[in-house]
Order: sequence, then C-alpha cells, then structure tokens
Amino acid sequence: MRFDIITIFPGFFAGIFEHGVVKRAIQGGLLAVGVHDLREFAHDRHRTVDDRPFGGGEGMVLKPEPLAEAVEHLGLAPKAERVAQRETVILLSAQGRKFSQGMARDLAQTKRVVLLCGRYEGVDERVNELVADQELSIGDYVLSGGELAAAVVLDATMRLLPGVLGNEASSEYESFGQSDELLNRTGTALCSTHGAGGLLDYPHYTRPAEFRGLVVPEVLSGGNHEQIRRWRRERALEKTLRNRPDLLPHAELSAEDRRFLRALEQRLGGAQSKDSV
Ligand code: SAM
Repeated sequence: MRFDIITIFPGFFAGIFEHGVVKRAIQGGLLAVGVHDLREFAHDRHRTVDDRPFGGGEGMVLKPEPLAEAVEHLGLAPKAERVAQRETVILLSAQGRKFSQGMARDLAQTKRVVLLCGRYEGVDERVNELVADQELSIGDYVLSGGELAAAVVLDATMRLLPGVLGNEASSEYESFGQSDELLNRTGTALCSTHGAGGLLDYPHYTRPAEFRGLVVPEVLSGGNHEQIRRWRRERALEKTLRNRPDLLPHAELSAEDRRFLRALEQRLGGAQSKDSV
C-alpha cells in the first residue's frame, strides 16, 4: 500500500516513520510513503501557496492550483475511477467525517491513499469538491495543521494491512476490533480472547505478579482459557461502560454480555445512590 502526503512542512515527517511497526512495514515492502512539498507546485518565485480569504476575515487560505497540481503529479486515476482503482484522496479537515477504526479497516483495502494537509484557515473549498474524494477529521478539536492528522490516519490504517502486525488477529483483539462472529471465529479453538466486537480492550498485565501491593488477577495465571476469556470479556464490558458508554449500543453483545452489563449497571447505580446519601 502506498501513501502520499502533500504538505507545506515536509520536514515535519522526518523521523516519524522510522520507528516500530511503520518502519518494519516500510522495510518489509508492505508500505511505501512519499512526502511532497506543496511549494514545489507554486507558480511564483516566492513559492506562494496561500492567499487572503474572499469575503474577508482572519488568516490565509491554501490556494487550489498548487494542491490540484500536486495531486495530478502523482498520476492517480481520474476521480470517477478511483474507487474501482482502489485509490483515494483524503483532505484532512476539522469539518470532515470523524475517522474511526471502521474507516481505517476500509482504507486498508485500498492500494493508494493521498493525504492533503491543510494549514492556516484551511483549504480552498474547491479542492474538496474537485480533487478530494473524502474529507476526514481525526476528532472534535482544531489542530494547527493536517500533518498530525495525516500521520494518525496512516498509522491506524497501515497496521491493519495483512502481514504488518506479527499476529494477524491482534488488531481484532484490541479496542474497536470486530466480533468473533464477523471474524468467522466461532469459539471452537482454544482461545483466551474474544474479538472486541466494538468494545474497548480489556486490561493487560505482565510480570511482576505483584507491584506495589497490587496483585495480578489470579484467573490470568490459572491456565483455564475459558475462564480467562470470560474474565477479559467482562473487564472489557466494564471498561467500556465506565469510559465509553456511547459504544455499547453499537457493540456486538451476547445474551451473557447483556446479563453481565445489567447486573453491573444495577451494582453501579446502587453504589452511586449510596454515595449520594
Ligand atoms: N478553519 C478551520 C476550521 O475551523 O474547521 C480550521 C483550520 S486548521 C487551523 C488548519 C488545518 O489543520 C486544516 O485545514 C486541517 O487540514 C487541519 N486540521 C485541523 N483540525 C483537524 C482535525 N480535527 N482533523 C483533521 N485535520 C485537522
């Protein structure tokens, strides 16, 4: 899979892809990344890529011509044919659809992704209409530029490519992973972990078995895979209820999961009303 990033700060990415999983994916030939200086596509000797906004107001706006030409230079298919060619051009923008693990999974099916990084007040809207295929935001906050967002989208996507993570299944056993059913894993194998099914991950422990008075839960050293699996599932449910209850209505829950959640909610409700008394 190839990513091309278009930015006015190519130096921002120096070193960013030289660590851990991304570095190994590049070295292993599973991932290629090109970083392109938008100013190379400016039309004047000052290499101007921004201008004042029509209608007045604060700040500057990235001009459409350099961005359009930078994308054309990459030789992608025409916009109408990009889906079929498994190519996509993404404009990073606080006004975009919110990036998620599901979108990362879809993006990992494409062959080429171009990431356009805005700066200043943003990008001339005609880039969105004529050049980009999608407008993505990485969260409900405003960054000073699209570079960090581009790195986030690239990282979250490339680790889902087959062969990038050591264990193929590990991206499904973590937060927001798919359910066992969607993974076609129906629980026949000796397995101590559930597909996350849209929940947050369960808590992890390593040695030492005791740290500053806190002991690793006994079930994890017992070797009973079914018990470990259930314990992990319950902790994932608990953590999701506590930190991200908004995920629960969309999560893949079994009847057992629902019973556990109902009991937990009752217990928590009881504890809260006792606290308030
Ligand atoms: N005026 C814009 C607005 O209010 O939506 C904010 C522009 S921001 C200062 C400059 C650039 O940072 C944007 O063009 C975009 O590329 C990037 N950016 C800012 N917040 C982002 C977010 N949440 N997700 C993705 N990109 C973002």
